[in-house]
Order: sequence, then C-alpha cells, then structure tokens
Amino acid sequence: MSIADNLLKYKNEIESQGVKLVAVSKNHPAEAVLEAYEAGQRVFGENLVQEMVDKQAQLPADIEWHLIGHLQTNKVKYIAPFIKLIESVDSLKLLKEIDKQAAKHQRVIDCLLQIYIADEESKFGLGFDEAIELLRSDEFAALKNVRIIGLMGIATNIAQEKQISAEFNELKVLFDGIKVSYFRQSDYFKEISMGMSSDYQLAIEEGSTMVRIGSNIFGKRVIKHWKNKE
Ligand SMILES: *Cc1c(COP(=O)(O)O)cnc(C)c1O
Repeated sequence: MSIADNLLKYKNEIESQGVKLVAVSKNHPAEAVLEAYEAGQRVFGENLVQEMVDKQAQLPADIEWHLIGHLQTNKVKYIAPFIKLIESVDSLKLLKEIDKQAAKHQRVIDCLLQIYIADEESKFGLGFDEAIELLRSDEFAALKNVRIIGLMGIATNIAQEKQISAEFNELKVLFDGIKVSYFRQSDYFKEISMGMSSDYQLAIEEGSTMVRIGSNIFGKRVIKHWKNKE
C-alpha cells in the first residue's frame, strides 16, 4: 500500500473515534510528508529539531508541526516561530525557555507535559510527583507565553497488552486528577497524547485524544529506531 492509502486507512479509523492523528514522519523525506499532505493529512510529528526545521521550510505553511522527541533548551529558538505543539516538555527549565522564545515571537506556544509511564529506563519524562510540583510552582504560574493543554506518555515496548493498557490508564487517571486540581476552569486542558503504531488501539480504549503513528503510515524507518538512540 502507498503512503496515501495507509494514511487514509488510519486517518478514517482513528478520526471516526474522535481522536486526532499525528503522522510521525521522522526519518522519512519531505516527499513522503507531501504525499500524506496531499491525501489530506495536516498534522505531522518529528522528534529532531533540525529535521523538522528542514522539512518545515520546504513544505506547505498550513502543516501543524508537533515536536514529539526530547528537546534541548538551546534548540527551542529554531522551532519557536512556527511550532504548533511541543508534546515532550519534561522540565520546568525547558518550559521557561519555551516561554522566553515564544514571547520573542509574540506567541503563546501550546505544550504537553511528557509523563514517564513506562517500565523501562532511558525514556524521558516527568514523574507524577514532578509534574504536580511543576504545576504548583510560582515559576510556572508566572509564565505567560506557554499553555499546557494536556499530557503525553509512551508505554513500555512489550507485547503484554495488559501492562500497556495499565500504563495508559495511569496516564488517564493522572490527567483527570490534574484537570480537577489545576485546570478545572480551562477548557484548553483536554489532550492525552498516547498510542503509537503498535498500541494505538489500546490507547484509544484508555482515553487517548491524540495518537502518534509513524511506521504504519510511512513504513519502516531507514535510520535507527528512536528507542535505540539516546
Ligand atoms: C517514533 C515515535 C512515534 C511513532 O512510532 P511508530 O511506532 O513508528 O508509530 C510515536 N511517538 C514518539 C514519541 C516517537 O518518537
């Protein structure tokens, strides 16, 4: 099947359940993104700043770019002019830098807090307590150019569906608790980004509002799998 065929298949299946599809185009060339774009996709996820910036410059301006990989503070400035959603905020320090760069462009940048839910080492993200500490801090309250619109998480890369579902459920429970405590009046706090090619159905069952699908749409990545890089 072509990229366009794959895209339409997953887009229909996922969006008919009221869930947003983020097409993860990392490690695939701009032409592949354009093929999905021409088939109707507008939301794309990348995990590397340089790769996203290169593609953004070549591709239509109405694409919504989501950063889904670990972001170093010194690279925020490159994406601040155009980024639609930073899904991988994992520290207050990073959030402060995003706020600073967003202010330079007179923007408010939407972000998700990435929460550590997997039973694996070497994955980025905030612990539950760390996320709450961040949200309670005066430093966070002072930020005017960032908006937290939800949470993101990556489940353990294993075959046991029960464990994967339990991890997604933990994220949903945390989301509900944070919503009530910190965003009760804020309609914008409504996104739970969870689910990838292998586990998006489980994620949707557990309350995902946004899934990030790469290889099911674009095929296998030529470059090393993200889980192996650090
Ligand atoms: C690569 C990546 C995905 C997509 O993975 P697939 O298994 O190819 O669907 C989703 N989320 C994050 C954070 C990723 O880095």
